[in-house]
Amino acid sequence: MSPEELERAARALAPQMVADRRQLHRHPELAGRERETAAYIASRLRDLGLEPRLLLGETAVCADIRGGGGPGRALLVRADIDALPIQERDPERPYRSLSEGVMHACGHDGHVAIALATAELLRERRAEFPGLARLVFQPAEEVAGGAAPMIEAGVMESPPIEGVIGLHLWSGQPVGRVGVRAGTFCASADEFGLEVRGRGGHGALPHQALDPVPIASLVVLGLQTLVSRETSPLESAVVTVGQVSAGQAFNVIPETVLLRGTVRAFTEEDRGRLLRRIGEVGAGIASAFGASVRQIEGPGCPPVVCDPAMAELVRRAAATVPGADVFEPDPLPIGDDVGLFLRRAPGCYFMLGAGDPPRGISAPHHHPDFDIDEACLPLGAQVMTRSALDFLTAGPG
Ligand SMILES: [Zn+2]
Ligand SMILES: [Zn+2]
Repeated sequence: MSPEELERAARALAPQMVADRRQLHRHPELAGRERETAAYIASRLRDLGLEPRLLLGETAVCADIRGGGGPGRALLVRADIDALPIQERDPERPYRSLSEGVMHACGHDGHVAIALATAELLRERRAEFPGLARLVFQPAEEVAGGAAPMIEAGVMESPPIEGVIGLHLWSGQPVGRVGVRAGTFCASADEFGLEVRGRGGHGALPHQALDPVPIASLVVLGLQTLVSRETSPLESAVVTVGQVSAGQAFNVIPETVLLRGTVRAFTEEDRGRLLRRIGEVGAGIASAFGASVRQIEGPGCPPVVCDPAMAELVRRAAATVPGADVFEPDPLPIGDDVGLFLRRAPGCYFMLGAGDPPRGISAPHHHPDFDIDEACLPLGAQVMTRSALDFLTAGPG
């Protein structure tokens, strides 16, 4: 199939992609509650003649497209489907969210639309490839809680998955730009908590209490040295304490302070070291003052590391797509639990430009003004479909 034929086929699906994206944009659902979203995806896949399976309490969908070319390798195409607890700002948007305080502010509605079109394009061409393409619609990406249970539910098995592709729309790049990077593309992301426990008391009699507030303050400062003093200047990482909770009254010394934060790193070594050192620094500072610390592990995901051969396959596929401008992006300090799939099988996660600054579409992800230029959708479907066909018919490298 020539690039022009694929372009024509994808453009013919553009109105359906816009309809899918807007349907989901109007009805966003938070992580772990994506039942209507999953039902919609499943019904669209059934319309394509596929047999979708609902997983994880009917918040996830998986569907196989078996090639007509006999046995071959299995490829997993991943799309995430959840929305965010954000109130959409623009009251004039015709497709604005109808759910108070919930919004597709990361573009996952577009990811679904692209994956559905990819399913349709691959299904129509299944005679042309051997093996199997598995479409995986994953919930709870925003809380790093969807990929792990999908893998536990067996989506990487029977048959064993040998390649993974996925994409993230990116409003910081204009439509047409396709960012492909071999090696580390996104950081790990781990939530952590430290509960500093002292002894409460009267605000005027601190010597009779053990005030956890100044101790927790020192812990926050101590944690800042983990990156500045313990991480190689040639590597980068982030330790952010974003939440400090203590006390109910101005004149009462509280019993505990809860610190909650996030750690980002670009290697598994740094990730493991920082999580361990957070506990050690917290416990060490607290014990110096006679207080104690309990470390609370939160959900997390590893760095997103793209296999060089798979990245090259996607880069070449994207280069054939009319209107695509392929570039190598810098690594991003955001996290994405697609990294768990990529740790199990070689894969490529790439960036698809979705911004349109002249039309004012440039708000960052997770922002109440976030939007995408829907012109990116057919481009995404072409890169996905071409990459899938190339993997299934020839393989990487
Ligand atoms: Zn997001
Ligand atoms: Zn996202």
